[in-house]
Amino acid sequence: MTLDRPLQSFPGIGPAKAKALQKLGLTAAGDLLGYYPRAYEDRTQIYPITSAPTEEAGCVCALVAETPRVSRVRAGLTLTKCRIVDGSGAAEVTFFNQDYVRRALVVGESYIFYGRMELLGRKRQLTNPVFEREDRARFTGRIMPVYPLTAGVSNNLLASLALQSVEGCADQVPDELPPAVREKHQLCTAEFACRNVHFPADQEALAVARRRLVFEELFTLSCGMAFLRRRRTDAQGRAFPKRRLDEFLALLPFPPTGAQRRAMEEISADLAQPRPMNRLIQGDVGSGKTAVAAFAAWLAHAGGFQSALMAPTEILARQHYETLTKLLAPAGVRVGLLTGGMRAAEKKAAQAALAAGEYDLMVGTHALLSEGAVYQNLGLVITDEQHRFGVGQRSALASKAEVPPHVLVMSATPIPRTLALLIYGDLDVTVIDELPPGRTAVETFLVGEDKRARMYNFVRKQVSEGRQVYMICPAVEEGAQDGEGEPPGLLPNPAAELKAVTAYAKELSEAVFPDLRVAFVHGKLKPKDKSLVMSAFAHGEIDILVSTTVVEVGVDVPNANLMVIENAERFGLSQLHQLRGRVGRGKWQSYCVLVSANRSPETRERLKYFTQTTDGFKIAEKDLELRGPGDFFGQRQHGLPTLRAADLAGDTRVLKEAQEAANELLETDPELDWPGHRPLMGKVRRLFAEEGDIFN
Ligand code: ADP
Ligand code: MG
Repeated sequence: MTLDRPLQSFPGIGPAKAKALQKLGLTAAGDLLGYYPRAYEDRTQIYPITSAPTEEAGCVCALVAETPRVSRVRAGLTLTKCRIVDGSGAAEVTFFNQDYVRRALVVGESYIFYGRMELLGRKRQLTNPVFEREDRARFTGRIMPVYPLTAGVSNNLLASLALQSVEGCADQVPDELPPAVREKHQLCTAEFACRNVHFPADQEALAVARRRLVFEELFTLSCGMAFLRRRRTDAQGRAFPKRRLDEFLALLPFPPTGAQRRAMEEISADLAQPRPMNRLIQGDVGSGKTAVAAFAAWLAHAGGFQSALMAPTEILARQHYETLTKLLAPAGVRVGLLTGGMRAAEKKAAQAALAAGEYDLMVGTHALLSEGAVYQNLGLVITDEQHRFGVGQRSALASKAEVPPHVLVMSATPIPRTLALLIYGDLDVTVIDELPPGRTAVETFLVGEDKRARMYNFVRKQVSEGRQVYMICPAVEEGAQDGEGEPPGLLPNPAAELKAVTAYAKELSEAVFPDLRVAFVHGKLKPKDKSLVMSAFAHGEIDILVSTTVVEVGVDVPNANLMVIENAERFGLSQLHQLRGRVGRGKWQSYCVLVSANRSPETRERLKYFTQTTDGFKIAEKDLELRGPGDFFGQRQHGLPTLRAADLAGDTRVLKEAQEAANELLETDPELDWPGHRPLMGKVRRLFAEEGDIFN
């Protein structure tokens, strides 16, 4: 067998099965070898019936002592039962709706059963166990792989194909790691890794195999990121003439914090270089990133270049447009706005003006990437809240310029250090680790339903003192299963009734606060209506804004000092932190109240943790620990290639080792064009293939 043998030529695989397998990206034997199990079942140990574990699944080897009997319990439910015996005793096996068992289990034959033994009084019972004839056992008596599945593809099918592929061609899997790297880091061969990741000889062999695959993947990724980084530092860009920082600071309504000043100085130095800047400004919510972005745009304008600032939401784009116009218009910077939600005529006019060079700074949403957006001499590209854009979108905007522009990325997501280097491996990072003065930490409380009346009184008190309040709900509509606020990876709590924006706003304005000005906003509103409500709130014309998480990113209304979050259990920690960042922006003591009726100890602990810390980095670490990186960044939103073997949260030690190894190798062979390194280069290209042609 060779690696390219089509799966369709395997016994038992017809066109339908082949098609289902294709959905998983599996067409040839080699694909299966690269399709790693997501978990394993330890079916090595065979127990006597009477000492089989009752807490977890285990194997027993027993004789079928009677012909299985099928009984119909009711329409759609049949039971198949029989007794099995071994030297230690007997047990009953029961199958639900698996009538074929009657013929599959032959009386007098010996089988291995894998399942969890239940004790019912003195009787022992196995329900729906996996079984195989003892003399033909393939998937018992060993560590069994558990693969990610899809409709029409069972785990046994995949395991069977994997077993045939491993036996047929594991020895042909190319070893793409340079031998010197493999030896130095004590990694097993590709063949050993392949065999043991699918069918581990024992737990130790599995660990050795996994280590090699994880290392290999992170090593490849690190090489790719290093290429990206170098390609940029080699590229020709345009240098902007230096300007005195004081000139810009005179435009600001406040003195900058030390961290803001540092960031501006770094940007100023970057922009004076004839190679494109690629800098990430990472600053916690409210740390004042907008002023830093304004500085960069101001410098570009002073140098005679256009800038574009892309925000992930309509609300945020409009808000930036207003802030930046106020700040930069006095310096002669002409600021324009282009969003998907604008009326066609408005959009056309904005595009025409942009193309005619009538704007120096174009603020907008994804619309800035559209075909209609033509730039005159784009010299600087800024993206806000980067974690919502992938690497691809960042470069799509940059490609609108004739000469590679300077790129500034702003993110409020504090990224755990272990991940920052990997994800932003192609960026230089500035951390704004200081909040503007006079901020007091937001006080955070966790309350249950019993305190609802008191919570309402507290809302009323803030409003009576002239403040404004956000009230966040997870869902848009009544009875919604999925709200905008639903964090991926957290199971919904079926017992909790979800607060829905529209109904909740109605209840609040009619029954609870009839004398106050209550309005609502959510992602499904028309962009125009959304921005009307937001601007009314910003201008103090609304007391209570009921909202989904559309206000999560960037919205800045300093007079709002209270945020109430309903069904707080539905939100991830990082998301709660973003939401809480909407308050505490003015001179008033601010509060965040989490309302949750959820009683699960894990949820309570998570929410309690949140009330006790305001450090975004700590919260991010905790979130990562609780939910893993996939959820942390949202599916693939970080723009990294998909990883098959590595788990970024769990494999940080290997990550560091792999990164160092990659840097070391690239120092000796920067282009990976030594003959012995070409397979590795091919692997790097394949890993990044989905990301478009990053190497061109
Ligand atoms: P973020 O980093 O979350 O984008 P913003 O740029 O929106 O933060 O700034 C948050 C608030 O702090 C804004 O109201 C802004 O005007 C204010 N601000 C920013 N920098 C300073 C400063 N140095 N001194 C006082 N207020 C500041
Ligand atoms: Mg911001």
